[in-house]
Amino acid sequence: MTGYYKEPGPKLDRESPFESMMERFRFAADILQLDDGLFQYLASPVKQVIVSIPVVMDSGKIQVFEGYRVIHDNVLGPSKGGIRFAPDVNLNEVKALAAWMTWKCSVVNVPFGGAKGGVRCNPKELSLGELERLPRRYTANMLEVFGPDRDIPAPDMNTNEQVMAWIMDTYSMNAQRTEKAVVTGKPIILGGSQGRKEATGRGVVTVTLAALSKLGMMPNKVTVAVQGFGNVGSVSANLIYEQGARVIAISDVSGGYYNKNGIDIPAAIEYQKNNNNSLEGLPGTESISNEELLELDCDVLIPAAKEDQISRHNASKIKAKVIAEGANGPVTANADAILDKKGIMVIPDILANAGGVTVSYFEWVQDRQGYFWTEERVNRRLNRMMRDAFDNVYGVAEKHQITLRQAAYFYSIDKVAATLKMRGIYA
Ligand code: NAD
Repeated sequence: MTGYYKEPGPKLDRESPFESMMERFRFAADILQLDDGLFQYLASPVKQVIVSIPVVMDSGKIQVFEGYRVIHDNVLGPSKGGIRFAPDVNLNEVKALAAWMTWKCSVVNVPFGGAKGGVRCNPKELSLGELERLPRRYTANMLEVFGPDRDIPAPDMNTNEQVMAWIMDTYSMNAQRTEKAVVTGKPIILGGSQGRKEATGRGVVTVTLAALSKLGMMPNKVTVAVQGFGNVGSVSANLIYEQGARVIAISDVSGGYYNKNGIDIPAAIEYQKNNNNSLEGLPGTESISNEELLELDCDVLIPAAKEDQISRHNASKIKAKVIAEGANGPVTANADAILDKKGIMVIPDILANAGGVTVSYFEWVQDRQGYFWTEERVNRRLNRMMRDAFDNVYGVAEKHQITLRQAAYFYSIDKVAATLKMRGIYA
């Protein structure tokens, strides 16, 4: 299911996912000269829970699944993070993704810690009834972990707003009251937020505009290329188009579409809708490959499809002045240094695509208030938080002469560490 915000994690090294997350953490910890004790504290998850989930299958037989929830940290507030259903999900992966959520919430000043959950199952093999009983029993087993003041799940890989509705209902039945704020990513009718669907793309454009302003470039004078035309890519393309930018190329799995005079993005969205969700044959454009799109002569490049698109093989050919990572991990670690040398400003995923988690936070606030905001209010507040987050990270990058990616980790780890120091260690 696509078309709305999930809390997806970065691509991790399959062999040692926790280690690949720790590399970035160590780099920032080094510059911060983080005290050994704090380092140990922040490198260790607060809680790791493994549960067995018995489910009565349609055949009448019982099948037992393994479920996980890891709370990496709850220093800034209750922990937050998605739940994924996948055949190969494991504790080590969930641990790494939970830590990643800590840094992501911190960088945009969302007052949440990081968590992640998973159930080892193949959702494609489950009937609708089994798919409902599984998260309900998982939730029942996690009643002491979840809670609007403790730990707040959200959708991730293979879970969606319906699964969130079942989790909310199971938790509420046990609490004997309706507790909407226990999960985010719910349908609007159950307390979801306006503007959540577009939140990630909107955040991408807010930070892109902030970057352009630092570079003294006017949005209505720039050219843009966007890779991927799903939730993040199409919303980003449309919003930057509305700012007067010339979007010269867009793409999806069917290939890239180029027009040096600019593509009419609302028309492309309409075309895609009526063309089996594909851009194939987009009128008024020339076909190019997804690889060519990345190397186009343009001012802004928004990779919003998948990971590992800009690597050491093509980094030296990138001509954009700003890259805003809509996707998770579209620039590989070894491409970072090449882009930096070329003076290209890369707005890292942890910041650029954090609009979704920000509106998740708004959803939680609205559920707790029992007062729901207009879309206009959600967007205004989202823009402000993303803009502030960009300015904070930019300030750190300038001060320490490091890249925005390094600065984003530096900023978020520093904030969690400072809060932890202030709270002290409860004995
Ligand atoms: P989506 O499924 O809605 O869209 C993906 C788009 O990428 C589609 O247009 C698809 O055709 C295209 N695509 C797939 N493979 C491609 C390829 N090889 N070359 C070019 N295009 C290709 O997904 P989405 O929700 O827009 O997510 C895109 C990326 O952003 C993912 O990395 C995701 O983890 C990340 N992300 C999404 C959100 C969110 O709110 N949806 C939040 C944070 C990060």
